[in-house]
Parts: sequence; C-alpha cells; structure tokens
Amino acid sequence: MKLEGKVALITGGARGIGREIALLFAGEGADIAICDVNKEVAAATAKEIEALGRRALSFETDVTVFKQVEEMMNIILDNFKHIDILVNNAGITRDNLLLRMSEEDWDKVLAVNLKGVFNCTKAASRIMIKQRSGKIVNIASIIGIMGNAGQANYAASKGGIISFTKSIARELASRSINANAVAPGFIQTAMTDKLTPEQKSAMLANIPLNRLGVPLDVANACLFLSCPDSGYITGQTIVVDGGMSM
Ligand code: NDP
Repeated sequence: MKLEGKVALITGGARGIGREIALLFAGEGADIAICDVNKEVAAATAKEIEALGRRALSFETDVTVFKQVEEMMNIILDNFKHIDILVNNAGITRDNLLLRMSEEDWDKVLAVNLKGVFNCTKAASRIMIKQRSGKIVNIASIIGIMGNAGQANYAASKGGIISFTKSIARELASRSINANAVAPGFIQTAMTDKLTPEQKSAMLANIPLNRLGVPLDVANACLFLSCPDSGYITGQTIVVDGGMSM
C-alpha cells in the first residue's frame, strides 16, 4: 500500500472528487480527515472510510474561515499525531458573463477556491514544517490555464491556485514538503451535472480521448503526488483532461 501509516486531510471531501480521493487514499492505507460544509454527507463518507478499516474524522469546517481551519488542524493533530498530506479540493462555481457577474459571486468564488487554499495550506504547513515532511496537492482546473467565457471568477481562482502552488513549493522545499497542483478537465460530478446536454456534447467534441473524466481519474493523479513515487516533483501542475487543453 502506498500510503501506509499516513494521515491525509481532504477538503470538500464529502462528495464528488474529494470523496473519491478520500476513499482511494484510505484503500492505500491512510487515515483520513474530511472537512466539508456538508456535515451529514461528510459523516457518511467518514463511515465508508471506517468500513475500509481506516480511522476517519469528519469536520463541519468552512475553509474560508481561518479560525475554523486552525481548530480542525489541532483536533486532527490531537487524534492522529501528524498530518502528512493535504489535498485542497473544496471548490465552487458561480458562473456568469463578466457584465452580469455580481461582486458577491466574485468574492464567494475567490473566498472558497483561493482563500480556502491559503487558509488550509498555512495551517497545515506549520505542522508539516515541524515534521520536516509533507505533501500538498491543490485541485486547480484547466479553466485556470485556458480561461472560459462565463467563468472569470472561477478561472482567476484556479489560475491563482497554480501560481500559489509554485510559490509555496519554493518556500517549503527545504523542509522536504512537496506542493503540486492537479488541473482536471471535464469530470462527471454534481458540479458538472449543472451543465446542459448541449454544453456537455460541445465539450466532448473537444476531448481527444473521447470520454468525460471520472473522479477516479483525478484521484489517481492525487495519489501519485501524495506518495513517495513523486518525491522529486514539486511546483508542477498535472493536467487530467483527456487531452482537451493541449
Ligand atoms: P462538488 O461540488 O461535487 O464537491 C465539492 C465539495 O466541496 C462539496 O462537498 C461542497 O459542499 C464542498 N465545499 C463547498 N464549499 C466549501 C467550503 N467553504 N468549505 C469546505 N467545503 C466546501 O465538486 P467537484 O467534486 O466536482 O469538484 C472538486 C474540486 O475539483 C473543486 O475544487 C473543483 O473546482 C475542481 N474541479 C472540478 C471539475 C469537474 O469537472 N467536476 C473540473 C475541474 C476542477 P456542498 O456540497 O455543501 O456544496
């Protein structure tokens, strides 16, 4: 098993891609902490992890609130004694064309997707620096590389994650902490279920591998970046999009 004895915190881990990452990591031997705003679903995912024979904690924590994030980290540390892996996965969309985009929708997306990553990384890296080891994986998006009409807020947040990742990779490298990003393309989850059939078939036409992604495609890249196999990789972004953005 690739993560035997490790402790991983997955933000937004209750459902979708985050849940898949949590279950894959648990199957590879890691104990898991899940943080999400959806208390009941987070608790249900934690139960699934326990059924795999691993320890699990679930938290009703909003990643935009630093105090909540810090309290959560302290409880994880008290229970599990170390935090080896942080996957910053929590993210939202509030799509609209620029002229129709409200200030509130801009602020909300930047708060969850970018400030949330800052909050969790800051709190976890304090612990990882003391441990002199750690793996940080930030879930960006190909929209953060390509841009997309109607997603200026989301694209700015995800592009910000990619450059944030490079900066912290440089800061934390001397403490044996790797920081990388994963940029998924079109993955089948509740987030993309909101798209119309026309939008979905237009996207499919641009995917060379000719299928939509599934959460496990993203989770597998996260596993690689969280295990010793990727020890000499830091500050990078792995694109998981079926070739869509090349
Ligand atoms: P989902 O909406 O299915 O899951 C996201 C989870 O994050 C939900 O459980 C959600 O809770 C939780 N969440 C939302 N806000 C917060 C918050 N403030 N604090 C803690 N948790 C929060 O999304 P996906 O699984 O599709 O996406 C996961 C990540 O992957 C996101 O960062 C997304 O941007 C990225 N991504 C997804 C793609 C896709 O095609 N699906 C493509 C590219 C990137 P609740 O259910 O209550 O909202």
